Amino acid sequence: MNVIQTHDLTRRYGATEAVHALNLAVPAGSVCALLGPNGAGKTTTLKLLMNLLRPTAGRAEVLGVDTAKLGEREFAQIGYVSENQQLPLWMTVQQFLDYCRPFYATWDRALEQQLLAQFQLPVDRRLQQLSRGMLMKAALLASLAYRPRLLVLDEPFSGLDPLVREEFVHGLLEVSTQGDWTVLVSSHDIDDVERLVDRIAFIDAGRLRLNEPTEALQGRFRRVEVTGGSDGTDARAAAGELEWARSGQLTRFVATAYAGEASERDWRTRFPGATFNIQPMSLREVFVTLARTRATGAPGGAA
Ligand code: ATP
Repeated sequence: MNVIQTHDLTRRYGATEAVHALNLAVPAGSVCALLGPNGAGKTTTLKLLMNLLRPTAGRAEVLGVDTAKLGEREFAQIGYVSENQQLPLWMTVQQFLDYCRPFYATWDRALEQQLLAQFQLPVDRRLQQLSRGMLMKAALLASLAYRPRLLVLDEPFSGLDPLVREEFVHGLLEVSTQGDWTVLVSSHDIDDVERLVDRIAFIDAGRLRLNEPTEALQGRFRRVEVTGGSDGTDARAAAGELEWARSGQLTRFVATAYAGEASERDWRTRFPGATFNIQPMSLREVFVTLARTRATGAPGGAA
């Protein structure tokens, strides 16, 4: 079952099309990153999913319910943390938690206490006196403590120093092993989410360029270096090859549809007598390649 499913979801702001015909699926139990450069449409997508914005066209379902019909019952099972969230800043951390608790039948006091200790939050301090990182941690705690089925995090790491970021990731990793959560976390930086996620959706200029498990993504991307084998007759990129460059006897490209021996056989045919250096790529390298090739509209693969 998909906890999130969008159908040609589209949102315009005047002449700007922030999200274009998005078909995003997030399966139950997955931890999915919504990655994309600044202005790609991540926040707009998450707001559409939370029914904070209405689509211009298309629709979306969250927990099997059309977002226009999301109600108390569904929101009791959804945690949403965003950078610009309105929090009752006059409350202390303790008052904030006491205030939130009654709204959720599933609130877990033991988990609340565990996270309080783990995040080292001062319970007697007012929210307005907390640093940005602490405030994000308080918001995350209040969203995790009721063990939501779906957790939606909008750029939770932006502006956090590396230490707080690490604590934040650690907290998320710990709880994600304790239950059957589905998480959708947006970020413009793969490094922030790499350790957390098992699935990546990449959005650019409002369009979904890929949406797949990280393992599959890393399986199909390869950096390829070909030495020799070129008589100049077939010096062109084949489908699914990005950043193709040739200089003398050296040809370089990024293969986006690597399929093991079958691909290598194909390359030996195209480059007779050549030697090949075929290297796996880190998620960061894949992400950078996708971001770099976006201007050309080169396909990243299945969307
Ligand atoms: P960032 O990583 O910088 O937060 P993002 O991927 O979350 O970016 P969005 O905030 O969804 O991107 O914005 C997508 C596009 O829509 C951008 O071109 C942005 O300028 C535009 N946009 C967003 N909100 C509005 C608004 N309220 N009015 C007009 N245009 C908007």
